[in-house]
Amino acid sequence: MNLETYKSIRSNLNGTCLVAVSKKHSVEKIIALYNEGHRDFGENFIQELVEKRKQLPKDINWHFLGNIQTNKIKLIAQYSSLIQSVGRTKVYNHLLKTGLEKEINILLQLKLGHEDTKSGLTEKEIINIIEQHPEDSNVKVCGLMGITENNISETERAVQFDQCNNLYNRIRVMNKNIEILSLGMSNDWEDAVKHGSTMIRIGTKIFGKRK
Ligand SMILES: *Cc1c(COP(=O)(O)O)cnc(C)c1O
Repeated sequence: MNLETYKSIRSNLNGTCLVAVSKKHSVEKIIALYNEGHRDFGENFIQELVEKRKQLPKDINWHFLGNIQTNKIKLIAQYSSLIQSVGRTKVYNHLLKTGLEKEINILLQLKLGHEDTKSGLTEKEIINIIEQHPEDSNVKVCGLMGITENNISETERAVQFDQCNNLYNRIRVMNKNIEILSLGMSNDWEDAVKHGSTMIRIGTKIFGKRK
């Protein structure tokens, strides 16, 4: 756990929202950050999120960042303030039909790079969703999330950041709820912010290595 790093990142944010990614880290570490005034935390596993939520103050905003199994969608929607990892049309369609009354805030995850294993929606799928999204739905599409590939050059990474930023600017004029571009993790957040990120997601740099 590195509170000094946390404070230094926070003082350099210039309005960018910081999500502290607490997956596989203890409730004690979360409390330490909470006591510094931090309220946005990110988790990848719904069971872990539910367990932590029970033990922690109610005014924490929980961001869901992990893979979404269809049979867990309702639970994820119930317990998350923002679901950032909507990366399949099927998941989006399920979210429209949860039957929950609460507002469900989501980001659409853009697929970056060419590996088949990379999850995410194509640009075309994202445009289709935005065009057809029902205005009266309790699901609010708040923006885009991107995870750049590992082990790519700075130039390639800049291309991927720009790809996200360009699409973000395109969909922003189509839907007034869109105001979040979630880009940047421990290793690349400074560049991400230069490329227009409005929300960064940092785990390792703040909490240390995950077990
Ligand atoms: C784990 C995770 C992070 C945090 O990664 P670090 O490299 O530890 O900062 C950010 N975003 C997503 C989607 C993640 O799964």
